Amino acid sequence: ETITVQELANRMAERGADVIKALMRMGVMATINQTIDADTAELIIGEFGHSFRRVSASDVEIGLMGEEDRDSNLVPRPPVVTIMGHVDHGKTSLLDALRQTDVAAHEAGGITQHIGAYQVNLEDGKKITFIDTPGHAAFSEMRARGANVTDIVVLVVAADDGIMQQTVEAIHHAKAAKVPIIIAINKMDKPGANPGRVRQELLNHEIVTEEMGGEVLTVEVSAKQKLNLDKLEEALLLQAEILDLKANPDRAAQGAVVEAKLERGRGTVATLLVQKGTLKVGDIFVAGTEWGRVRALLDDRGRPVESAGPAVPVEVLGLQGTPLAGDNFVVVESEARAREITEFRQHTHRQKVAAASARGTLEQMFSKIQAGEAKELPVVIKGDVQGSVEAIVNSLKQLGTEEVAVRVLHAAVGGINESDVTLARASGGLIIGFNVRANPQAREMAKRDHIDIRYYSIIYNVVDDMKAALSGMLAPTL
Ligand code: GDP
Repeated sequence: ETITVQELANRMAERGADVIKALMRMGVMATINQTIDADTAELIIGEFGHSFRRVSASDVEIGLMGEEDRDSNLVPRPPVVTIMGHVDHGKTSLLDALRQTDVAAHEAGGITQHIGAYQVNLEDGKKITFIDTPGHAAFSEMRARGANVTDIVVLVVAADDGIMQQTVEAIHHAKAAKVPIIIAINKMDKPGANPGRVRQELLNHEIVTEEMGGEVLTVEVSAKQKLNLDKLEEALLLQAEILDLKANPDRAAQGAVVEAKLERGRGTVATLLVQKGTLKVGDIFVAGTEWGRVRALLDDRGRPVESAGPAVPVEVLGLQGTPLAGDNFVVVESEARAREITEFRQHTHRQKVAAASARGTLEQMFSKIQAGEAKELPVVIKGDVQGSVEAIVNSLKQLGTEEVAVRVLHAAVGGINESDVTLARASGGLIIGFNVRANPQAREMAKRDHIDIRYYSIIYNVVDDMKAALSGMLAPTL
């Protein structure tokens, strides 16, 4: 029924004292030799960022995600790329154009299927995987659900338009996720194209391109005229090499759900991106709170395949329910195990929601900082004029101590929008609105996801609140 605190600490390879502290924060007082129930143990394991599996109703085994791979089992894998940028700068056009660079793109029978991701085969046998849902909302939404699938972000900037509002948002979403950026300066065929200005403007957002003496690669392309797409792919492969992307194909598969929907006559159809191992027909897997047995696998051209390895997106049939985009999936050894895990997850789902409900509030950040858990206070700052936004950013940057600091995820002029809420949520941060309000969609999202939006009209008050949060004197405002 239960596990001792000591045993739990041992299994997680954490210090007993840290486990006791974590329990105290959850309001459970226990000594090292006392026992706690499996539900509590599971919450604690999650707190420490470990994975686990529920072996039976009462026993939790740490490490659902299996053993760490040894270096000798790792082989290079293709990079997974997401395209971001301002509306109308050519994200969709670029994704379509890149898709056509596949060496087999013109083969008969290869009908393009939009399954949420596709893979391009290049001449030398190299491959690149693209997530087919452009934009930073989808990117951070997946990240907020726990899936980190993107290795590289391609930031599309129209050469005749330059850096726009959503370009800046995209930069900050990528940076918050610590994912490297490659710049595609698009629409080079247009008469007003000015790539120099784009590089210049990027400097204002701390993106220093190679031409400016930095390390960020830029490629001048035209999605419309299919110009320099090979150069963009070369840049992606180069970046992938630097990242040294590897995975073990010889193990039970795990990865993330890219898309999932219920289709009449086919049941739940999900696009999975394999991150480790190889997914095979007949495999039993758990995805979020759902499970399934792989009845069929289809590639991005709608052709049936027997298996899918690392960085390969596949459509899978055979799910019992519909998981969410961004859920992780993992192959398990039996149907009984799959049922057990999903029943348990569905059962504890409500508890988790309750536990997550305090996330992203200033009070929550404060207690994390106090407990020594958080080293930074991530914030999104939106204001009515550039001057006050800058003043707030500068003041907050000066607040940091050795132990904790404010981390500005994004700061811009304008009302609070959905992008701000997703960004704050994916990074566990909060939002500061200075003389601006949130639009109704953003307000709705923030309410649903329990993201703290704080409104101010005096800079001093912003600084004072953040300082209090950092130093531990925060008075609850609610
Ligand atoms: P998205 O909103 O970023 O996905 O942008 P789209 O791919 O929908 O492109 C917006 C518009 O720009 C469309 O009318 C495209 O035809 C056009 N466009 C995209 N790429 C290029 C390009 O390289 N050159 C020119 N001239 N137009 C382009």
